[in-house]
Amino acid sequence: MNNINAINNIIKEHGWEYLTDEQKIIKAKDIWYRKIRKVSDDFENDRDGFVEWYLSHKKRVCHCCGVSEDDVRRYFYNNKDNKKITRNGKRGYMLEIDKENNFISEKPYNKGNMFLLCYVCNNAKSNFINNYDDFKPISDGIKVFWDKELKKQNTYGR
Ligand SMILES: [Zn+2]
Repeated sequence: MNNINAINNIIKEHGWEYLTDEQKIIKAKDIWYRKIRKVSDDFENDRDGFVEWYLSHKKRVCHCCGVSEDDVRRYFYNNKDNKKITRNGKRGYMLEIDKENNFISEKPYNKGNMFLLCYVCNNAKSNFINNYDDFKPISDGIKVFWDKELKKQNTYGR
């Protein structure tokens, strides 16, 4: 099953690690096609370069708070019936691509300025903070939030 909906369902239900190498490449190409090519100077004409960048993240953890993608995925999956939390089930299951400095260019998703963040960090940082040092007091708080929430989930079963 290599269509993108099937791949997205595997990610949602089981996690990135359950994808085959081929499926990972298809998903990365899809991210490039849907978003990155439109917002990147470096990658607008370099799909393969983006795929290589994306797949180079072997340890999939939030660059700011350090939570693992799989913990976040499980959290949102367990809350999947609450549509408000996941924006109709679309967000939260994967780390998201953030641009650290929003104003380096009209199309700021560039090498050295792109990082994988959890949904909560990405949402909180928004467009008004332009470096992760300034964001650190907030991401430290988000780390506390995740520790507490994940502990709760472990207590009540997965
Ligand atoms: Zn985070």
